[in-house]
Amino acid sequence: MDKHTQLICDPRQVPMQINSLQPPVYHASTIVFDNTKALFQRHWRDRYDYSYGTHGTPTTYLLADQIARLEGGKYALLTPSGLAAIVLVNTALLGQGDEVWVTENMYSPNLEHLYELQKRYGVVIKIYNPLDATSFQPTAACKLLWLEAAGSVTLEFPDLQGLINIAKKHHVCVALDSTWGAGLAYSPFDLNGVSVDICVHALTKYPSGGGDVLMGSIVTNDETLHTKLRRMHTLLGFSVSGDDCARVYRSLPSLALRYDKQSKNAIELLTYLKHEPAFAQVLHPANPDTLGHQFWQQNCPNGRSAGLVSVVFDKRYSWTDICRFCDTLQIFKLGFSWGSATSLVMLYDLSKMRTLPQAHLCGRYVVRFCIGLESPKDLIDDIKTALGSLNYDEKSK
Ligand SMILES: *Cc1c(COP(=O)(O)O)cnc(C)c1O
Repeated sequence: MDKHTQLICDPRQVPMQINSLQPPVYHASTIVFDNTKALFQRHWRDRYDYSYGTHGTPTTYLLADQIARLEGGKYALLTPSGLAAIVLVNTALLGQGDEVWVTENMYSPNLEHLYELQKRYGVVIKIYNPLDATSFQPTAACKLLWLEAAGSVTLEFPDLQGLINIAKKHHVCVALDSTWGAGLAYSPFDLNGVSVDICVHALTKYPSGGGDVLMGSIVTNDETLHTKLRRMHTLLGFSVSGDDCARVYRSLPSLALRYDKQSKNAIELLTYLKHEPAFAQVLHPANPDTLGHQFWQQNCPNGRSAGLVSVVFDKRYSWTDICRFCDTLQIFKLGFSWGSATSLVMLYDLSKMRTLPQAHLCGRYVVRFCIGLESPKDLIDDIKTALGSLNYDEKSK
């Protein structure tokens, strides 16, 4: 046999299995069948369908099963990003004329995808107030309720029980974006006796923990629903790489350690931020002044609260001031996402993002800090220096 052919037809005579702490990583587009019988007997609905790379490999199923455990559900699908998980849920569950309920403080690309479905297929989008379950009034056309706990940027914690109870009464499917909770702050499938149907998680954030992987997950407890989502997953060709799965898998054992340390650091900053006159309001679910605090207490009895904290700047500060503040920060890096060791900052003008009046907020300029693993004292000093660049003393006269 030619040398080059031998390089391709590797006899693989070395023992292929060792008990390493980390499992082997499979890289596969093609998966070879033993014979034609095995080829024709395969079915995409099999629990572990090894027929083509997009359907999964032992590496992707290993991680998927761990994510299902983390969220307390039975079945998990992995997607190329958190947004892809959201888009898959919308695409699988919503058809022409169907109604979906959302909040204004929801992860905004989800809303943008729904507006696209509205334009194309007449999907009806209705907005509810996450703090007032009675504002959710589904009609017979309602197919989906989106929850997000806590909400994006302004971090209001919703009345999960109240909203889920109404959805169940009307047989509406409930999807929760649990990225903030990370499978740790609350249990999506056991929220004081009620349960969501679908739990979506941007594994990009805390589970990855490195700021270097994009991935999402969709966990369910119901086999029929899982199969429906799985079929759409296959149709869309959503797949994830073995190397990315291995990175997330390796980070999972330290997830709770990192989450709790980042929560603790955020609480330390919260104490400082509340006393800083430049900030009119400090938004964090554990802060009793933040809307939804009681719902956070109900659903997160372990007191967990992630590493995000937002501030509303006092009205005397202009948008230019806030840009300068963010540009002056040194330890906080200006960037989207969160969940890695590096603290991040992002600035928002709520008047450009939301249409309903935000009566509970004292201003429109919000800065969100995503607290990493640096020393809280260094982070506080960084904020103080950046505020100093705004000539605060002169302005407060
Ligand atoms: C980041 C994020 C997503 C999207 O995740 P990507 O992997 O960045 O696409 C969805 N929901 C929430 C709440 C997020 O914070």
